[in-house]
Amino acid sequence: MAEVILDQIHKTYPGGFKAVDNVSLHIPDQQFVVLVGPSGCGKSTTLRMVAGLEEITGGTIRIGDRVINDVAPKDRDIAMVFQNYALYPHMNVYKNMAFGLLLRRRHGFWDNPLWAVAAPGKYRAAREEREAIDERVRGAAETLGITALLNRRPKELSGGQRQRVAVGRAIVRRPKAYLFDEPLSNLDAKLRVQMRSEIKKLHKQMQTTTIYVTHDQEEAMTLGDRVVVMKDGRIQQADSPFNVYEHPANRFVAGFVGMPPMNFFDGRLVSEGGQLFFVDGANRVPLPPATAAKLASRAGGEVVFGVRAEGLHPAAEGEAGTIRIRVAVVEPLGDRMDVIGETERGAHVVCRVDARARVSEGGMLPLRVDHDRAHFFETGDVGRNLLLS
Ligand code: ATP
Repeated sequence: MAEVILDQIHKTYPGGFKAVDNVSLHIPDQQFVVLVGPSGCGKSTTLRMVAGLEEITGGTIRIGDRVINDVAPKDRDIAMVFQNYALYPHMNVYKNMAFGLLLRRRHGFWDNPLWAVAAPGKYRAAREEREAIDERVRGAAETLGITALLNRRPKELSGGQRQRVAVGRAIVRRPKAYLFDEPLSNLDAKLRVQMRSEIKKLHKQMQTTTIYVTHDQEEAMTLGDRVVVMKDGRIQQADSPFNVYEHPANRFVAGFVGMPPMNFFDGRLVSEGGQLFFVDGANRVPLPPATAAKLASRAGGEVVFGVRAEGLHPAAEGEAGTIRIRVAVVEPLGDRMDVIGETERGAHVVCRVDARARVSEGGMLPLRVDHDRAHFFETGDVGRNLLLS
């Protein structure tokens, strides 16, 4: 077990493409960190640099107190689980799981009955080492519920079972850190959810520093002690799942995390009679004092107003300070429903409301804003959240 520190890491591929741009991240011992972001954001490259599968163009990576930039992958004391499982097809499950440990045996050479008489001390040490490996493999198989599969070859296993073997092979090693590269993306939706909670349980048991890569924001939010959102090779926010959701650092994070994505409205801040308003076409939303105080210096300027689907509530016709939409579709979700529509200026809006609310498709609907859940961003794709000080 150890902390992992990435200090100003860069990766430029031959040909000049900059895949990772000045990434710094301190992962404390035992933390479960998830790197998440859209395809091509550099998350796998970052993980592969920690694993030693990709050369580091600039910066330093430490595992514990050792700089590992130039250490061979096999000597980094990490275990990696890949998306495609990477099991040896000709070995059974037991051998697949034991292989890494057998390779690293200290007394392996003497593990042959021929030496029992000629070199009994060395033979005994080798046998004990072999038994310890056996115990670890069987223990891991038990934990993962694959004991009955130990004699099967990978081709005789389902996708979920193969995934368990790949995880088992990693946990028997008891490394300083686990690295997972989209390990669940080949599984069907139900199995993915099941394996997700098993990985979480396993992390609780093993308490080992873990770096996990996924493009699935829901997986990131449910698994991570900390979620690191990346875009274009850069970290946009590294924070608890709660903060990433409730206090996104910028517009990109706000739009990437959460389903349905946050609603955004382009507009202006207008100060009138001592009151600050957000104005988007005919919609004029008065801002409460705490919000207004933070935004006062931007009066007259353009901003992006962001609010999640559950932060908009149907209001009475004629109520002041609402955002009006024309309802296109209503999607029932049991006790709630998603109302999907557009503002007069064409902003796409989704709000999640009580299923008993009276909303008709094609009609106009005024929406009241829950200001505790509202955000204001600078304009642009990665506009900063102006309410975070
Ligand atoms: P995905 O979820 O699609 O795997 P990712 O965030 O893991 O995406 P990376 O695999 O880290 O992305 O790739 C980051 C960027 O670097 C991408 O634009 C990719 O095209 C580029 N890239 C990856 N490997 C190479 C390579 N060997 N040579 C040149 N460019 C590469």
